[in-house]
Amino acid sequence: MSTDGMRQFAVYGKGGVGKSITSSNISAALSQMGYKVLQVGCDPKHDSIATICGRLLPTILEVVREKGLSQETIDSVIFKGFNGVLGCESGGPRPATGCAGKGVYTALEFLTRFKVAERNGANVVIYDVLGDVVCGGFSQPMRHGYAKEIYMVGNGESLTLWQVNNVMKAVVRLRAGGSNVAVGGIIDNMRGVPNEEKVVEAFGQAIGVPVIIHVPRDKTVQQAEFQGKTVIEAFPDSKQADVYRELARRIMANTKTYVPTTLTLPDIMNIVKGEMVAAG
Ligand code: ADP
Ligand code: MG
Repeated sequence: MSTDGMRQFAVYGKGGVGKSITSSNISAALSQMGYKVLQVGCDPKHDSIATICGRLLPTILEVVREKGLSQETIDSVIFKGFNGVLGCESGGPRPATGCAGKGVYTALEFLTRFKVAERNGANVVIYDVLGDVVCGGFSQPMRHGYAKEIYMVGNGESLTLWQVNNVMKAVVRLRAGGSNVAVGGIIDNMRGVPNEEKVVEAFGQAIGVPVIIHVPRDKTVQQAEFQGKTVIEAFPDSKQADVYRELARRIMANTKTYVPTTLTLPDIMNIVKGEMVAAG
């Protein structure tokens, strides 16, 4: 996508870590700050924009398979949700056929080809990308310059930090191949493990990427989700909504990106164990 005057960033992390909830609350908060946001779900799970639009919606790949590729088809899968936030879902290939990551990339190519962000006047594009397997597939949005600035969603669990570390390895490898992708920060979407803030801070320090915010685990998230809404929409006066608004502000104010160092699994275990022991 052309980047003139348009802020584009990606939110990466393992499945279930909270990428879509976090992205959607950022989008909703940004819309109230006056930005025109397009949120692009890049996960075959296709529920990225469910709390922006109130329900699950058809995906780019499935509708293109059904109706053929045209600007009209693509426009039919760009949905308007809360406060004018635009959203779409890449979808994935039919199960057991083809590479899901490649499918995601194909969908992103359609968005570019038909200038979806530009024609809709979007000035912020958020890619919500599954980072479970950094096979060639899910690194495609980084590789092809859709997401030069990425934010990692993590928490204090070693498996999550291992997956963050895997995405960091992909960043390093892509940079060696000439890409200018880099990391804007870690979003600690807390899970409730002991001493979690310190664990994630220590991990961030070890990989050379700052933690941009610690997001508490909070019941307003599920309560809003059951209504098909973001916390920003359903509970605008809650503390959790304040956290998401602050996160949105920090991302927009951030001008720095970092080239990560990568760790081994024993390094990660030591960070998690060391901090937990320190917590008593
Ligand atoms: P991902 O997109 O990374 O697969 P989701 O954003 O769908 O993950 O989040 C998975 C689930 O975790 C959501 O259904 C939501 O209920 C829960 N969740 C995410 N963030 C929080 C939070 N801060 N507090 C409470 N629950 C959360
Ligand atoms: Mg998701």
